Amino acid sequence: MIVVGGGHNGLVAANYLGRAGARVLVLERRRVVGGAAITEETWPGFKINTFAYVAGLLRQEIVDDLQLPLYGYRTILYDPQYWMPFPNGRALKLWVDTDRAAAEVAKFSVKDARAYPKYVEYWDHVLELLEPLMLAPPAPLAEMFQLFSTPETETLVRDLFLRSAKDLLDEWFESDEVKAVLVPNAVIGTMCGPSTPGTAYVLAHHNVGNLDGHKQVWGFSVGGMGGITQALARAAVANGVQIRTGVAVKNFLVQRGRVTGVETSTGETISAKIVASNADARTTFLKLTPPGSLPAEFEKGVRQIRSRGAALKFNAALSALPEFTAEPGAPSDAHRSTVDIAPSLEYLEEGYQDAVEGRFSSKPFIEMLFQSALDPSVAPPGKHTLTCFVQYAPTELRGTDWDAFKATAAERVLDTIAEYAPNIRRVVEHWQVVTPKDIEAILGMTGGNIFQGDITPDQILSFRPVPGWAQYRTPLGGLYLCGSAAHPGGGVTGAAGHNAAQIMLEDWHGVSGPRTPTSS
Ligand SMILES: Cc1cc2nc3c(=O)[nH]c(=O)nc-3n(C[C@H](O)[C@H](O)[C@H](O)COP(=O)(O)OP(=O)(O)OC[C@H]3O[C@@H](n4cnc5c(N)ncnc54)[C@H](O)[C@@H]3O)c2cc1C
Repeated sequence: MIVVGGGHNGLVAANYLGRAGARVLVLERRRVVGGAAITEETWPGFKINTFAYVAGLLRQEIVDDLQLPLYGYRTILYDPQYWMPFPNGRALKLWVDTDRAAAEVAKFSVKDARAYPKYVEYWDHVLELLEPLMLAPPAPLAEMFQLFSTPETETLVRDLFLRSAKDLLDEWFESDEVKAVLVPNAVIGTMCGPSTPGTAYVLAHHNVGNLDGHKQVWGFSVGGMGGITQALARAAVANGVQIRTGVAVKNFLVQRGRVTGVETSTGETISAKIVASNADARTTFLKLTPPGSLPAEFEKGVRQIRSRGAALKFNAALSALPEFTAEPGAPSDAHRSTVDIAPSLEYLEEGYQDAVEGRFSSKPFIEMLFQSALDPSVAPPGKHTLTCFVQYAPTELRGTDWDAFKATAAERVLDTIAEYAPNIRRVVEHWQVVTPKDIEAILGMTGGNIFQGDITPDQILSFRPVPGWAQYRTPLGGLYLCGSAAHPGGGVTGAAGHNAAQIMLEDWHGVSGPRTPTSS
């Protein structure tokens, strides 16, 4: 079996296949495995999460099955989870502990502080329903909706799949600041504003985090996100998997409707009865699959997948931690938290509108973390790392291109941070900007979309990657999708790799029935 791409999902799939006794070869075109979940020593001594930066979504079942702690996987839960400064000099922090967080909320609205614990419970309830869907192929829609058959759960369906994050938050809270601190996960990585219907689901997608026994939380992978994928690679090798890096697959070899292997960019051909693609759906079916091999209707569905860039990364090496006006001292609670600069829903909506018109937001939403404040292994002694996820950044800029615009984007990010941490410029030693175009070129994620395709309700569950083909199989015999282009979508969850491997093993053992869209 060949796994094309050593992203975290490809590695998870390879692990399960190898454990089951299959002979597995992973081919990764980059020099390093991990895809978007890597850590690079971008400047001497500074270990930078070039792309993904926070852990929490990786399914605990996978961590346990693959015994990842034995291979170096370690995480740090941070607390507070969020720290958000406002232009009036105030800041709101959310602790992991619900009562402690509610006490902070009370500084902005006593009514909202009373609602907050119920809101956390509401999500616990939603996640009880959603979590079992993660590590299983998606059921057909009608079957899935049976999970939501009581009047109470019917409201959940409406909330999650049809409403916007703004609608949801307006129903729960009165304070603009409280809504602001709770909304970022509804739009992160997604070319939508908080008022766009469907963003309530994007929020749910990011709330399934689980770390150290806590739900709805995020943390760091010790040493950086590459710690996760390096552990997965070590486990894979222990499971008998062969990993080759620096090998790009140019195309699949296809005979009579079946994949028979791959051809690499250097012209090497490698035979295999089963090929799993960790590349996104557009790359897999429109670039790697020989033209004319797929049913026209399927190909049309693939072309219709929305895969829009929404964000860029600004990563930096710091001589010291910058001081936040609203939380004096360094390190402070802010440095040990996710700092979100997005002081209102309107701020996000305006940033989104800029991007719709082809501009980098004039007031960008910045999610920033200083991993070195809790994990000194990522920076030289006394120095620090800064990673910023910056939105909105459309795939194409009107009137210019991203390479020409990088320095301006960096200045805008620094100006925005300086409004809350005035000494930021003095502490930045080096910086890099990774644009949607870079994400596309380096990782092959179409449009620079960080999830291998939008995770809005029309592109999730049995609709992912295209309706009728959500169960990891494809119209080509022996070809499977094992990355986040398949259910349950993006984020470092490992779930797509896990689920794809189960289906591949079923087919490998000859259990599956005839190949039709509904059975696939
Ligand atoms: C900027 C950014 C920030 C993010 N932040 C977070 C975060 O903080 N937390 C989180 O949970 N998620 C985050 N995400 C999302 C998450 O990282 C991705 O959804 C996830 O890592 C995708 O994993 P994957 O294995 O499905 O695919 P990928 O990581 O895309 O891996 C695919 C692999 O296939 C390889 N490949 C592609 N084509 C070929 C070919 N022809 N031949 C050989 N190899 C090939 C690629 O090089 C790549 O290594 C972020 C993503 C980005 C881009």
